[in-house]
Amino acid sequence: MKWVYTFGDGRAEGSAAMKELLGGKGANLAEMANLGLPVPPGFTITTEVCTWFYAHERTYPVELSLEVDEALRSVGRKTGRVFGDAERPLLVSVRSGARASMPGMMDTVLNLGLNDSTVNALAREAGDDRFAWDSYRRFIQMYGDVVLGVDHHAFEEILDDHKDREGYVLDTDLTAADWRVVVEGYKALVAEETGEAFPQDPTAQLWGAIGAVFGSWMNARAITYRRLHDIPASWGTAVTVQAMVFGNMGETSATGVAFTRNPSTGEKLLYGEFLVNAQGEDVVAGIRTPQDITEAARIAARSDRPSLERVMPDAFHEFVAICGTLEKHYRDMQDLEFTIERGKLWMLQARSGKRTAEAALRIAVEMADEGLITRDEAVGRIDPSSLDQLLHPTIDPGAHRDIIGSGLPASPGAASGEIVFTSDEAEAVKQRGARCILVRVETSPEDIHGMHAAEGILTTRGGMTSHAAVVARGMGKPCVSGAGSLKVDAGRGVLTALGRTFRAGDIITIDGGTGQVIAGEVPMRQPELSGNFAKLMGWADEIRRMRVRTNAETPADARAARAFGAEGIGLCRTEHMFFDAGRITAVREMILADTSEGRRKALAKILPMQRQDFVELFEIMHGLPVTIRLLDPPLHEFLPKTEGELDEIAAAVGVTPEKLKDRVNALAEFNPMLGHRGCRLAISYPEIAEMQARAIFEAAIAAAKTTGAPVIPEIMVPLVATKAELDYVKDIVDRIAAAVTKESGLDIAYQVGTMIELPRAALRAAEIAEAAEFFSFGTNDLTQTTFGISRDDAASFLGTYVNKGLLAHDPFVSLDTEGVGELVQIAADRGRRTRADIKLGICGEHGGDPASIGFCETVGLDYVSCSPFRVPIARLAAAQSALKSRKA
Ligand code: ADP
Ligand code: MG
Ligand code: MG
Repeated sequence: MKWVYTFGDGRAEGSAAMKELLGGKGANLAEMANLGLPVPPGFTITTEVCTWFYAHERTYPVELSLEVDEALRSVGRKTGRVFGDAERPLLVSVRSGARASMPGMMDTVLNLGLNDSTVNALAREAGDDRFAWDSYRRFIQMYGDVVLGVDHHAFEEILDDHKDREGYVLDTDLTAADWRVVVEGYKALVAEETGEAFPQDPTAQLWGAIGAVFGSWMNARAITYRRLHDIPASWGTAVTVQAMVFGNMGETSATGVAFTRNPSTGEKLLYGEFLVNAQGEDVVAGIRTPQDITEAARIAARSDRPSLERVMPDAFHEFVAICGTLEKHYRDMQDLEFTIERGKLWMLQARSGKRTAEAALRIAVEMADEGLITRDEAVGRIDPSSLDQLLHPTIDPGAHRDIIGSGLPASPGAASGEIVFTSDEAEAVKQRGARCILVRVETSPEDIHGMHAAEGILTTRGGMTSHAAVVARGMGKPCVSGAGSLKVDAGRGVLTALGRTFRAGDIITIDGGTGQVIAGEVPMRQPELSGNFAKLMGWADEIRRMRVRTNAETPADARAARAFGAEGIGLCRTEHMFFDAGRITAVREMILADTSEGRRKALAKILPMQRQDFVELFEIMHGLPVTIRLLDPPLHEFLPKTEGELDEIAAAVGVTPEKLKDRVNALAEFNPMLGHRGCRLAISYPEIAEMQARAIFEAAIAAAKTTGAPVIPEIMVPLVATKAELDYVKDIVDRIAAAVTKESGLDIAYQVGTMIELPRAALRAAEIAEAAEFFSFGTNDLTQTTFGISRDDAASFLGTYVNKGLLAHDPFVSLDTEGVGELVQIAADRGRRTRADIKLGICGEHGGDPASIGFCETVGLDYVSCSPFRVPIARLAAAQSALKSRKA
């Protein structure tokens, strides 16, 4: 077993292919070293050590310490230094790195190896006392916080006190002598808090830091992040130990982060930020507002702080060349971290850059056009779920904006909501069903849950690469960062802007596309599919096998779905048409009728309205298939609930309130989900199915005349358990079709099929397929009936199942491919055996879930159907599934 892999001086034992073993950071540092790029030498302790650590009560394999010693000596040889040496001490950073990047989740310690003696050597070498003592105090604070668990605020207090005492404002006001005093204060704090002096032995420091990195794999932040991003705990983290380079060695030193293309828009322009005379996390932490890397970006941002291109042109040009090399090498946009020590450039990290969906599309399309990747790869690179970001509203350009401030456009999209100042409040607001904007000076990893709960994030400090910006982009939430003119007083719960005061609960709107912060709610515009988005969708359409339909019953939804590329309607829920204000009275009359006669009379009033609904849908779908489900929910859902409503309806329908109440009571069920619903209604009240069938056929004839594109309606019978049920309802439909044919003198083409949403139907699919020309998997009900979990009641316990690891996912969100999926597979197989060309689709929520769509491809379904705004997601997911099955 080899536990440690070294890199540096143009070579490495590892490579980018070894992410599982070395973590993303370690593997890419090795790769950069192999490419001959300037990388400070170092070594990576593998993720297998992490696994070993947790399997053996937090201890290490015996050989590890020898391997670490040897690797330290090798780094020493490459740098001409010795770890712990009083003359030429080797100082290192200790960095964590999992396979998937977990920004801000794990803690890095810089300047390790400094102590009361080596700090003097550092000062002598650099010829700069101030720098050395500043580095030392940073180390004590970082180490104290990350490894020894001393609250970082306590350190900041000591520094603030010293500044107050001396009348300083900025950290840069402090002299070497000041930093010495601060260091003494820090050491005293550590001794007081931990009961032990700050460790002076570099080896003890190193093992403390290594242990802290491995330990942090199981801290609450990391666990939350893994849960949100589906990263298994078993992966473990690697630890990279690397020779320090110093961005804080004066005015010719700097540190920065950059993206090879703009992570927000995808534009092919180097994009990044840096700080002169600063170290590592200063940029990300948003403590000072960073400067732009390129002149172009500086001018665009109207910044008066000079760009890197200006202040350090040599390092800048070398960096630009490296960006090109890395982008070509990895064939993807890179997120890079670098430090310049006295004019000399050092690369500290490379990884695939996180990006907004808009940027992802642009980068994929442009890279395919540049010939850097293939179209298939471009299609494969976009996370289908991320498209959701683009399918969110933006502010109506014509809307009045009561602008109260502005910051950086850190993550696009617009959102309105109540102001909240803490993440816990954000969760509380979300829980009561309201929307909120999380307003902070800056965010930290402890805010992840609040950022999730909020519609958008607003910070008053920090740049485009601050924690808030990076995490918001990853989550696809609108974010405005660094809105410096706003003042947040979280303690008092007020936000002041332009002399106006806003409190928690007040509504604001943020526009992550422009950086504007606006008072109140602003009208939004619905998204559309154009540009790179449309282009990539076109490529996806060429690849995919499955069709994508939509679940829609209103003309607005149907139109939106068509605009997003829906190829028909997979589920039209006719009950939604019954709820309409203009017809609910007639519907109630129908329900209240005692006799079949009475029901027919009421249904006659509904018929023309229902027919008109279908005419519109058929016209919009213009010849594309439309699946219409007969009435599904139990009738009591249409009856009034409150006393006031009861009286009103009774008067309108012409019955006594008592009679109405009796009827409501008579229809009440203990378990409506498993009650008098679905095809059971059509069996009890055939007149309802008759009316609906007639409306459908007459509408089909009418729409064919206006559009010249005849629709072949697919009439779908819900909640069928037995073939006899389907036969019964199909007879009604066929009878009405014959009648309408006779009346109109026109032949009517249609199909009758069923939903498969009960386990019995799935099992008896062979015989049901004798009557059904298509199956549509209603996986909401099928999940409910397979698990025996009521989806309306699941909220109170299903989350616990997921949290306790009893279920990997909520099966109502992502199809349970093992159990429910097996039933789908069985029904598909048995149905096809009876009827080889039986049409198969899915119309549950799962039809818009990428993982579930992948499963549908493996079963060979003909189409998926989902809500209009998920149609593009489904198109892309279907294409990716096709690519995957081609490979398999
Ligand atoms: P994260 O995973 O949070 O990005 P990193 O391990 O990349 O943490 O460390 C954070 C920052 O610390 C880096 O961006 C870099 O600026 C600085 N850093 C890490 N290692 C070194 C080093 N050997 N020399 C100088 N700076 C370093
Ligand atoms: Mg980093
Ligand atoms: Mg159903």
